[in-house]
Amino acid sequence: MNDVPLKLFNSLTRKQEVFTPVHPGTPGVAGQEAEARVYTCGPTVYNYPHIGNLRAYVFADVLGRTLSWKGYNLTHVINITDVGHLTDDADEGEDKLEKMAAQKAQSIWDIARHYTQAYWEDIKALNIRQPAHWPIATDYVPQMIEFAKNIADKHCYELESGLYFDTATVAEYGQLARAITAEEHESEHARINTVEGKRHAADFAIWRNTPPGEMRQMEWESPWGRGAPGWHLECSVMGEELLGFPFDIHTGGIDHREIHHPNEIAQNQAFCHSDASGANIWMHNNFLVERSGKMSKSSGEFLRLQLLIDKGYHPLAYRMMCLQAHYRSELEFSWEGLGAALTRLKRLVIRIEGLNPHDRAALDNRADSAPAADMPASARAAAWANGGRIGQAIERFDAAMSDDLNTPIALTVLEEVAAFKKVEPAEKLAAIAAMDTVLGLNLLSLTRASLRMRPKDAIITEAEIETALARRKEARVQKDFTASDAIRDELAAKGVEIMDGDPFGWDWKLG
Ligand SMILES: [Zn+2]
Repeated sequence: MNDVPLKLFNSLTRKQEVFTPVHPGTPGVAGQEAEARVYTCGPTVYNYPHIGNLRAYVFADVLGRTLSWKGYNLTHVINITDVGHLTDDADEGEDKLEKMAAQKAQSIWDIARHYTQAYWEDIKALNIRQPAHWPIATDYVPQMIEFAKNIADKHCYELESGLYFDTATVAEYGQLARAITAEEHESEHARINTVEGKRHAADFAIWRNTPPGEMRQMEWESPWGRGAPGWHLECSVMGEELLGFPFDIHTGGIDHREIHHPNEIAQNQAFCHSDASGANIWMHNNFLVERSGKMSKSSGEFLRLQLLIDKGYHPLAYRMMCLQAHYRSELEFSWEGLGAALTRLKRLVIRIEGLNPHDRAALDNRADSAPAADMPASARAAAWANGGRIGQAIERFDAAMSDDLNTPIALTVLEEVAAFKKVEPAEKLAAIAAMDTVLGLNLLSLTRASLRMRPKDAIITEAEIETALARRKEARVQKDFTASDAIRDELAAKGVEIMDGDPFGWDWKLG
C-alpha cells in the first residue's frame, strides 16, 4: 500500500506528472519527512470573495490535505493582495483597493482589513485548513524593491509611468498560456494594453509610479519613483521569501494562466538567471459557471458565501458541490445543484450518525493503537484495515486522490463505505474519519440538525417549530387528527414543511 505515486496535472507541460519533492528529507525517519511547499495566489481584498473565487481555495486545500495524506510535510502559503492589483488585467486602470476606498470614502487600510477578515471567515466556514503563512503584500514592499533592483538592469526598462519588464529577455515567455498561440497571446496583450512606449505588448509594469500631481493612500519611495509594486511582482517575491525557488507547486484559478502566472514565471526566470519557472508544477482550477445569468452581479445578487448561508444552506454543502466535480472541469452553479449537494451531504451524515456512540469510543482507541506515527496517513489507514473490504476501499480512495485529485471518485468510495453492511461499525467509522481528513467535509462532527435549512428571513424560530411539533405529536397520540392537521397547516403557513416518513429527510424543513 501507498506505492501508488501521487500524479498531478502540470499546466506548464500539459500532462500528468509524478510528484517528486524538491526537499526529499530522509525517508522513513520521523520528523524528517519529505516536504511539500505550495504557493496559492490569494485574494485581492477590495470586496467579498465570489464563491467562484472560493473554489480555488477549496481546490488548494484538497491538494494540501492530499499531500499530508501521502506523508509529506506541507508548507502552504496563501497571500493577501492589498495593493497593486488593477481594475484591468493590463497596466492601466485604477488600483482595485484605492478605487474601493475612494468609493466608500474609507481608509484603504480599513477596506483591506475588513475584506481580509471576511475572506478568512469564508475560509473557516468551508473548513479550509490554515496555511503555514498568510503573507500580506504591503508587509513585503522592501523585499519587492530589492527583487526588482536585482532584475532591473538586465530585464527591465523605465517609462514615465514606472518600471517595465521586457518579456523578450526571458526564454519562452508565455509558455504556460499555450492554450493560445504566441501571436494570439501577443494580440490579446495588445488588446488590453495601450501603455505608450512599451517595447512589446506583453511587457508589464513591476513598479508603477504615482502619476504626477496625484496622491495614493498606499505608496512607497523606490529607485524608480514614488509608487507601488505591480501585482505580479508581489507573488514572485512572497513565494521566493517564504518557500525559496524552486518550490514544489504553484496553484491558482485558471484565469491566472494567461497573464498573471506567465508574468510571475518571467520574473522568476530573471531572478534565478535560469529558464526554470520557480515552481516544479503549476496547477489551475477551472471556473465556476452560472449559465442562467440570474445570479450575475447586475441582478444585485452577488454570489458570496454569506448569500448561500442566508438562504439557509450550510456552507459545507458548497464544499461538497466543489468536490463533486474534478477541479479541472468547469463547475456549474445552480440553487438546485446546491440543494442536491446538501442532500448528498445529509445522507452521509445521517448514516454516520446512525453508528453507535460506542463505536465512536472504539474509534478513539483505534487511533491510539495506530502503527508507527512516521507512516503516512494513507499507509496507516491501510495497515489497520488489514485488507478486507475496508482495506480495499481505502486503497481505491487513495488511488483516486493520487490520480490528479479525483474527488468525484473518492467521494463515491466514501459513500460505499458508509453504506457497507456486515462490517464492524468501528472499522467503518475509522475509515470514514481517515478519508475525511482528505475531503474535509467534517463528517464526524456535522449533525443532521446542523444541516437543516435555516433561511435568514424565516418568520418562525426553530424553538417555535419544535414546540408546535411536540403539540402535534401529543395530538396524534390522542388520535385528535383535526388538531394535528391544524398544527400542520399553521406551520405550512409559516413556510415549514413537515416531513413524515422519509428516512433521509428532516422532521421538518423551512423555506
Ligand atoms: Zn499571484
